[in-house]
Amino acid sequence: MSITALDKEYVAGTYGRFPVELVSGKGSVFTGSDGKRYIDMGSGIGVTAFGCADDVWVAAVTAQLGKLQHASNLYYTEPCAKLAQALCEKTGMKKVFFSNSGAEANECAIKVARKYSAEKKGDEYYTIITLVNSFHGRTLTTLSATGQEHFHKLFNPLTPGFVSVEANNVAALEEAVATCKPAGIMFEVVQGEGGVLPLTAEFVTTAAKLAKEHDIPLMVDEVQTGNGRTGKLYGYMHFGIQPDIVSTAKGLGGGLPIGATLMSEKVQNVLGPGDHGSTYGGNPVCCAGALSVIDRLDDAFLAEVQAKSAYIFSALEGAAGIQSVSGMGLMIGIKTDRPAKEIVLECIKKGVLCLTAKDKVRLLPALNIPMDVLKEAVEIIKEACAN
Ligand SMILES: *Cc1c(COP(=O)(O)O)cnc(C)c1O
Repeated sequence: MSITALDKEYVAGTYGRFPVELVSGKGSVFTGSDGKRYIDMGSGIGVTAFGCADDVWVAAVTAQLGKLQHASNLYYTEPCAKLAQALCEKTGMKKVFFSNSGAEANECAIKVARKYSAEKKGDEYYTIITLVNSFHGRTLTTLSATGQEHFHKLFNPLTPGFVSVEANNVAALEEAVATCKPAGIMFEVVQGEGGVLPLTAEFVTTAAKLAKEHDIPLMVDEVQTGNGRTGKLYGYMHFGIQPDIVSTAKGLGGGLPIGATLMSEKVQNVLGPGDHGSTYGGNPVCCAGALSVIDRLDDAFLAEVQAKSAYIFSALEGAAGIQSVSGMGLMIGIKTDRPAKEIVLECIKKGVLCLTAKDKVRLLPALNIPMDVLKEAVEIIKEACAN
C-alpha cells in the first residue's frame, strides 16, 4: 500500500491533506516520495523555524538525545532551566510553565488568569474576553476561547466563561470590560488561522491600557506570531506593550513539540505546587532544541526576517491575480482572484508548498529561507496567481 492509502485507511480523517508524500528535506527544500523537489513555504505551519534538519538544531537535539531524553518534572534538568532563563531574559517575563503544544500553553494561560482574578477580585471574575475570528486551539477550553462559531458546532457544551468581541473595535472591548467581570483579555496580535489579519496599534495599546487600569491580566497568544515569526522576537514587541501572560509554541521547538506560558511579575506566583502540571512539559530534548532556536533569534537575524518580508510584500502587492497582501514578518496572507485552494494545488504541481488561512493563501516560510530559494518560490506563486 502507498503511504497515502495506508494513511487514508488507518489515520483518523481529521485533516484535509494535500496530495504530497514528504520523505526528507534540508533547509527549505523537501523531497517527496516520487523524488520531486518542493520548496517549503509553510514550515510545518510555522514550526520548523530554521527549516528541515538544520545542522545547528540537529546537533543541539542529538547531543541531548544521547544524554537524557526524559526525566519527568520530579527532577531538575538543565535544558528546561536554561530555556526558561533565556525566555525570561529576552522578554522581561519572570516565570515559564512548559507544556507540549499551543493549546496547552493557552490552557495554562487561562488557568493563570482565572486564578489571579478569582483571588484578587472574587470567583465571579472568570470570563476571558477574546476576539471574534480568533484561534486558540482544539481542546474544549481553547475551542471555547476561539471566536469562530463553525469550530464549536456539535461539540457543545463548551467551557463557560468566554466572550468574544470584534477585533479592532475599541468600543466593543470597553463595553465587555465594563460588563462581563473579566478575568483576562486574550488575543493574537496577528490573527493567523483567521486569515493573517494584524490588529491595529490603537486596539492593542487600548487593550493594554484597559487591562492595566482594571487590573485584568493581558494575555497574548503568540503560538504562531512568536519566536521571530513577525520580525521581532514576539509579535507584541511591535506595539510597545508588556503583556502579563504570553503563550507560545509552534516555532519555539524548531520541530519538536513544546509549549511555553510566560508570566510577568504580576502573575508570576499565581500557580503554586499542584496547581498545574504536565508529564512531558519541559522535556530535555524539546528544550535543548528550543534553546538553540531562541539563541539564534538575535537582532541581526530578525532584521533579515524583516528584509525578506519586505521583499515578499513588494514582489506580490499589485501583481496579477493578487488583490491584497496582509501580515507581518514572514507570516503573510495573500487574497487572490482565484480560490486559495486552487492556487495552492497549482503551486504543488510547480514544486512549491504553501498554506491557506480562511480564503487566503498563507506563507510561513522558515525564518532562514535563503534569498534565492525564496525568490524562486515567489515567482512560482506569482505565476499561479496570474493564471
Ligand atoms: C496553532 C495555534 C494554536 C494551537 O496550537 P497547537 O500546537 O496546535 O495546539 C493556538 N493559538 C494560535 C494562535 C495558533 O496559531
